[in-house]
Amino acid sequence: MSAPKVGIYPGTFDPITNGHLDIIKRGLRLVDRLVIGVATNPSKDPLFTLEERVAMVAREAGPLAEAAGVDFEVVQFNELLMHFAERVGADIIIRGLRAVADFEYEFQMTGMNYQINPNIETVFLMADPKYQTIASRLVKEVARYDGKISSFVPSRVAEAVVKRVAESRADR
Ligand code: ADP
Repeated sequence: MSAPKVGIYPGTFDPITNGHLDIIKRGLRLVDRLVIGVATNPSKDPLFTLEERVAMVAREAGPLAEAAGVDFEVVQFNELLMHFAERVGADIIIRGLRAVADFEYEFQMTGMNYQINPNIETVFLMADPKYQTIASRLVKEVARYDGKISSFVPSRVAEAVVKRVAESRADR
């Protein structure tokens, strides 16, 4: 029997969206163990703390992994993606690819990552068309202008975003 395949799906997940969840569902079909890596990413000035993002990802994606019978863990990381991948023994890195916007960045990053460790393959997955245009950044922007975000993120995430946006307004 071959060794179990380990995949990592890294991102900021600020917050996790239906696009991320669709990629996770697809990724779960490819691996025996999925580690979701939540990046610290202070440069992106996240709406949610690292701990909140980890908890939201675990809560929303955990049941999908359980239903798929895949070993699953959500961990935070603050290091080079390839070092994180090596540390968790990953065989593949899963990335979601949206239209042209993601391509240039992913193209460069994958090319450089192949030089750092040629044994870890990067796999690109496309979300269902109805989720392809969802981006965490836009979800936050829509919420800041009181737009409806319920079709872009799970309901508990939508509630948390609305609450946090209101709190950040009150702080100002
Ligand atoms: P990053 O900080 O790396 O952009 P994100 O949390 O935005 O992290 O996204 C993590 C991964 O999920 C990236 O590969 C991104 O391209 C992918 N992704 C995000 N939203 C979607 C979507 N709607 N469809 C497909 N892939 C997506």
